[in-house]
Amino acid sequence: MKNIKAYGTKAANAPLVSLNINRRDVRPTDVEIEILFCGVCHSDLHTARNDWGGTAYPVVPGHEIIGRVIQVGGNVSRFKVGDNVGVGCMVDSCQHCASCEKGDEQYCEHGATFTYNSIDPHDKMPTYGGYSEKIVVSEKFVLKIPDGLDLKGAAPLLCAGITTWSPLQHWKVGKSSNVAVIGLGGLGHMALKLAKAMGADVALFTRSTNKVQDARRLGADQVVLSTDAAQMVSMKGQFDLIIDTVPNVHNVNPYIPTLAINGTLVLVGYLGGLDPILNTVPMIMGRKSVAGSVIGGIPATQEMLDFCGKHGITSDIEVIKIQDINNAYERLLKSDVKYWFVIDMASLKV
Ligand code: NAP
Ligand code: ZN
Repeated sequence: MKNIKAYGTKAANAPLVSLNINRRDVRPTDVEIEILFCGVCHSDLHTARNDWGGTAYPVVPGHEIIGRVIQVGGNVSRFKVGDNVGVGCMVDSCQHCASCEKGDEQYCEHGATFTYNSIDPHDKMPTYGGYSEKIVVSEKFVLKIPDGLDLKGAAPLLCAGITTWSPLQHWKVGKSSNVAVIGLGGLGHMALKLAKAMGADVALFTRSTNKVQDARRLGADQVVLSTDAAQMVSMKGQFDLIIDTVPNVHNVNPYIPTLAINGTLVLVGYLGGLDPILNTVPMIMGRKSVAGSVIGGIPATQEMLDFCGKHGITSDIEVIKIQDINNAYERLLKSDVKYWFVIDMASLKV
């Protein structure tokens, strides 16, 4: 066991501070990674503050990890010391249920082991995330970072990237697809970039008039002001897939008529009951679906990273020091970042 430096919190209402954690010794199938960069996800904040319940303290957040391999176990075949690698939201799963066999480890029937705030099924130790010096992960959950991809900008791909890639891939978006994204924030900006690079025609639904220019730069062919009823009506029957990234309870009903026949609106941002309730009429009258999706499996994550490597896609980021994390959380709550914070983990050493 190694005792290493990390940043985390001991209570829901306490700030994140410097603390020490134990990392397990490398098992035969493990990869030990020195962490270079770690993205800052809304879920880190939700977990640190116990917004969803179930946080076990101390918690060390961070599930968009980019690092370099410093040690491999005797049975590791895909990685060697010096490789640039990534770790996303999961570090283990049962590996034998129907979901795991399909590479959908995020839907593991026995529950995936998450990168932080989970219990490792083998040694029953708590998992701690990427706001730390090093991490030890089973090679099955380690991703290869393509050569040439900016390492800082690649960190958010491990969560924001795969969360938006997974529905684009599942609903088979390609050159003839019409895709819309609701909300231009962290997830939204990745959805625009990825859908555009897949060859789709892409629209953004936004409440914010000041986001038009940025949306176009990120890949939107059109921008629709969702608060303007006339603009919404003019979009009737357009979209094969709508990715809804809104994090709060909101009215989904105005978007359903903008779906094409057989179209799907997939929620990725908000967990909970909808208010107002869903009107089924436009769904039934056009075989339209409302769906949900969480992150993505390991094979899909590797495909997404390879795609990003080929197309030169990374996230638009603001680099911070670990000592600035509490301030970054406050800014995250105000959507005051374009479009994702990434921690330079060298700052943990000082
Ligand atoms: P964000 O940066 O705050 O962006 C959300 C965007 O939604 C805002 O920029 C805004 O865009 C729009 N919006 C916000 N409140 C709204 C409201 N009340 N009504 C309509 N639109 C609203 O958030 P994010 O980082 O993209 O994350 C979004 C959510 O996804 C978070 O809750 C996060 O926890 C969750 N998440 C889910 C997964 C998953 O696997 N499903 C993975 C990662 C994160 P406009 O100004 O353009 O309207
Ligand atoms: Zn995340």
